[in-house]
Amino acid sequence: MPTTSPEPQHVLVLNCGSSSLKFAIIDANDGHEIISGLAERLGDKAPSIKYKFNGAKTVIDLAANQAHAEAINTLVNLIKDHNLDEHLIAVGHRVVHGGEHFTKSVLIDEDVINGITKASSLAPLHGHANLLGISSAQASFIGLPQVAVFDTAFHQTMDEVAYLYALPYKLYTDYGVRRYGMHGTSHYYVAGQTAKLLNQPVEKSNFISAHLGNGCSVTAIKNGKSVDTSMGLTPLAGIVMGTRSGDIDPGLFNFLTTQLSYNAQQIDNLLNQESGLLGISELSNDCRTIEEAAVAGHKQARLALDIFCYRLAKQIAAYMVPLQCLDALIFTGGIGENSDIIRENVINQLAFLGFSCNQKSNLDARFGNQGIISSANTSPKAVVMPTNEEWVIALDAANIVKEL
Ligand code: ADP
Repeated sequence: MPTTSPEPQHVLVLNCGSSSLKFAIIDANDGHEIISGLAERLGDKAPSIKYKFNGAKTVIDLAANQAHAEAINTLVNLIKDHNLDEHLIAVGHRVVHGGEHFTKSVLIDEDVINGITKASSLAPLHGHANLLGISSAQASFIGLPQVAVFDTAFHQTMDEVAYLYALPYKLYTDYGVRRYGMHGTSHYYVAGQTAKLLNQPVEKSNFISAHLGNGCSVTAIKNGKSVDTSMGLTPLAGIVMGTRSGDIDPGLFNFLTTQLSYNAQQIDNLLNQESGLLGISELSNDCRTIEEAAVAGHKQARLALDIFCYRLAKQIAAYMVPLQCLDALIFTGGIGENSDIIRENVINQLAFLGFSCNQKSNLDARFGNQGIISSANTSPKAVVMPTNEEWVIALDAANIVKEL
């Protein structure tokens, strides 16, 4: 019987940061990437767009101070010049904060914009950029359905015991102060893929997934659902990250303000941009650079790696409390997918849970390769699973469009 290939279902995926815009056109049928790129330094002196299409990399310089709207305009021209709008069925927006209101992806209409605007008070920088991306895309792709996919949605299954802070209850009821968690699309995707790899239904799987990129978070997944996660009201909480501190003693605020005269903005910068691997190493936020320096004898680079791994291992062990039993620990994100050094270190610290690292499999699972990296016949398993948030966004958008 001749097989017919499915109709292309191309989705333009937009991920707007405060000064950057990641984009890709993905075929929702198979995750195939048609074009992808990054606009950066938006609103600054020398913004630019870099993109990859048909194997070639190109850079377009934007005029000084051009920001999201102009970058999207340039992107639209690019798409039209290459006839890439032909099979576009939707635009999928990664939205960082959906508050408690959004528990799944939705078609964007006026109510949704109002909901995102409301949730934006919880993450002003990201929220503002997300809304800018949505309004620019709506203006450029008139009539094309726009879908919002929330980074927080996967974690909306957490119980109040996991998401409430021990603060005056009114801060939650009146202002929504609670743990929301981020990287939900990634944790959801790698959990599903790991269940496939282990040949077991995700609804009957207990996983701990460690998304380790520039931002890092760990999620406890029980029977396929998020039951706890390390990021909180904002992405600053939890384990050590590239430039973010992760958890600290909140008493530090008083110390910094009274002893060192910091204001709120300076504290925010310190914790978000000057801490983490960068803060400890005083060298870089980039894990590769730190690993190379540590091997060459840089003491603070070694210390940064040791603290990163120790805090990560401690967080993973803590999630045995909600899970009680574990099928697999999943590593993903740029560090999780590539750093055999960090994976081995963390697995060794967790040997008391039954983990054992297979060194050859650990070395093989790099540069986009998935695989089981724990020794044969040991449990729980340790798995490397490349993430693909763009595909999840494209799939959600395509499924919503199907229902229209
Ligand atoms: P983002 O959160 O911006 O999407 P990524 O998921 O791309 O970030 O992760 C970036 C991190 O991955 C950086 O710290 C980078 O050094 C690290 N990384 C990438 N490749 C390697 C490698 N081969 N070894 C160690 N770390 C790596």
